[in-house]
Amino acid sequence: MSKEEKNEEVVKKMSDLMRSGAVMLEQACPLCGLPLFRIRSGEVVCPIHGPVKIVKSEEEAVEAVSSAVLRELEKAVARKLHTYVELFVREDINTSEMKDLIYLLDILERVRRIRKT
Ligand SMILES: [Zn+2]
Repeated sequence: MSKEEKNEEVVKKMSDLMRSGAVMLEQACPLCGLPLFRIRSGEVVCPIHGPVKIVKSEEEAVEAVSSAVLRELEKAVARKLHTYVELFVREDINTSEMKDLIYLLDILERVRRIRKT
């Protein structure tokens, strides 16, 4: 999807929210910075990320952002890992790629360890 299409989609989602009676709030989504909306059910949503938990303290906010960031990292690592695993399976992997593969596994392990704590 191009940037313009993405912007259009965001604008469309925001106007859909407004039309359905949602109220634009002063708070912004901690992930994308877009304004949050309170929908009729009382739930707070981001036009892109959907339901957002409103945090009460700075600590909770940091917690929410870092767990979202870690999720993103885990997804990115898994995607990258997949390409290396394919090389590995085809027995077409060189030493430096093998090192990358091990680094990626290391990152994944760390991320999982942090998320568990
Ligand atoms: Zn968002």
